[in-house]
Amino acid sequence: MSSATRSGLSFVPAVGETALSPLQGRLLSRAHELGRDHFAQRAALWDDSATFPFANYDDLRAAGFLALCVPEADGGLGADFATYCMVSAELGRFCGATALTLNMHVCSTLWTGLLAESVEMTSAERAEHERRRALHFARIVGEGRLYAQPFSEGTAAAAGRAPFGTTALREAGGWRINGRKIWASLSGAADFYGILCTEARGPDEPLDVRDTLYIAVPATAEGLTISGDWNPMGMRGTVSRNLTFENVWVADDAQLMPRGIYYQAALTWPAMFFTLAPTYLGIAQAAYDFTVQYLRGEVPGEPPIRRRQYPTKQVAVAQMRIQLETMRSIFWRVIHEARAHPTKDERLRLYAAHYSVMEGANDICRLALRTCGGQAMMKHLPLERLYRDSRCGALMLPWTAELITDRLGREALYEPGEKDN
Ligand SMILES: Cc1cc2nc3c(=O)[nH]c(=O)nc-3n(C[C@H](O)[C@H](O)[C@H](O)COP(=O)(O)OP(=O)(O)OC[C@H]3O[C@@H](n4cnc5c(N)ncnc54)[C@H](O)[C@@H]3O)c2cc1C
Repeated sequence: MSSATRSGLSFVPAVGETALSPLQGRLLSRAHELGRDHFAQRAALWDDSATFPFANYDDLRAAGFLALCVPEADGGLGADFATYCMVSAELGRFCGATALTLNMHVCSTLWTGLLAESVEMTSAERAEHERRRALHFARIVGEGRLYAQPFSEGTAAAAGRAPFGTTALREAGGWRINGRKIWASLSGAADFYGILCTEARGPDEPLDVRDTLYIAVPATAEGLTISGDWNPMGMRGTVSRNLTFENVWVADDAQLMPRGIYYQAALTWPAMFFTLAPTYLGIAQAAYDFTVQYLRGEVPGEPPIRRRQYPTKQVAVAQMRIQLETMRSIFWRVIHEARAHPTKDERLRLYAAHYSVMEGANDICRLALRTCGGQAMMKHLPLERLYRDSRCGALMLPWTAELITDRLGREALYEPGEKDN
């Protein structure tokens, strides 16, 4: 069998040509078609106007992709962690803002679904979780509802180093929420905001990260307001504005995980934070695709000028391909290793993969712009947008490029509990 047919696809996916399961093949084909035929053409529009890609979400909803990681038993498409990461990369290849915002939504199903399965719970907690999760899945599968994932507050909380300052106070039959989130992608577009907040145990009790709650606040809740301008350098279609919660009341069933379980999940399943990376592998692939097409003089609508004959450009393409293959390899490995309680070696590799993809995407875009030359940075072509979008990956908490470097170095040199005198 030739390498071009190993996956059974008519295109090479962003994760590379490789053997796939029938479900993976179907989902990747659909993602590729949606991206190539619709999202790629619209990407400049969301970027230019800094508006949310509603039309793409109509397509994703129609394709069942809002329920991508909802188990088949609950009416979803049943993608597992690795499959989700492959599909997300494929979408990111055509519209970064769409892939990144879909990730915020999908996490609400991955975390409550697949991840929660392997987090320890008492039988009462498990029963409570399954009942509430069924409500949450039914909203997505039956009503096409969209979830955002606002946890950032501009403090050390989103970095995983302090409790969230947004609080939830127990009140008969529910929770009273107060606080503020920044960077809420999908603000104004989501039907529910899946916030991380801290249970307030009493006026004199300090907040504790172990009391983190994961709660779905309806967009229509009284006391929830959206504010702030949105005019960023990249990922402009994410519309990540501020949310204020002023005495917002939600019923108990709004809890997406039982009390205390989010904290356990974050310790148990570190790969839950890797799902931001696939978007950026897709962006790197797009920059590489464009460069090859451009240097061959085959970009539709552009003069058919070939630039491929210059050795320096061939070297740059070789460097891009080497970096892309390195990113794909480590990406492929970690998405298949992802599980509860990874070994130390697996965890360190996960950090290295995250860093490699987030920084590598920007490196590839930088090389692409340099080697394609001045005309390629014009706004009617995608390269300058890819470059701007690619810069955003390394800024995303909790695993910014800096924090992941900190973790990698520290955890490589110290065993848990070890200290220097
Ligand atoms: C396009 C885009 C979309 C986003 N969408 C979302 C979203 O949907 N939901 C969401 O919750 N967030 C989202 N974010 C926010 C993102 O995850 C980060 O929270 C944000 O980029 C951090 O910005 P900041 O200025 O608060 O960061 P910083 O000020 O750099 O970091 C905030 C705090 O983290 C700690 N910290 C940061 N760096 C270090 C370090 N090196 N060592 C020790 N502590 C450190 C510090 O306490 C610091 O005050 C998005 C970001 C982008 C760029």
